[in-house]
Amino acid sequence: MKISDFQSLMLEIYGIRDRARGPERTMLWLVEEIGELAEAVREGNNSKLSEEFADVFAWLASLANVVNIDLETVALSKYGSGCPVCKSIPCKCAIK
Ligand SMILES: [Zn+2]
Repeated sequence: MKISDFQSLMLEIYGIRDRARGPERTMLWLVEEIGELAEAVREGNNSKLSEEFADVFAWLASLANVVNIDLETVALSKYGSGCPVCKSIPCKCAIK
C-alpha cells in the first residue's frame, strides 16, 4: 500500500465526517493523538507506540484530506531527493 492509497482509504472511511468537522477541529484531534504518541514514547510501551503511530498517521491523512493536500506528492516533492537543505542522502547537515 502506498501513502496515497492509505490517504484514499481514510477518505473513504472518514471523509464525510472529516469535512463536516473542518480543518481546525481535525487539527486538534491530530494534536491530541501526537500527545498520546509522546506519552507512549516516554513510557517506552511498544504496543501503545504501534497504536499511537497508527492514530497519528490516520489523523494526519484525515487533515490532509480536509485541506486537499496529497501527502505522498508533498512528502516526495520535499524529501524524495534527500535532505531538502543539503540535498544529500544521508543528510550531511550539522547535527542540532
Ligand atoms: Zn541535510
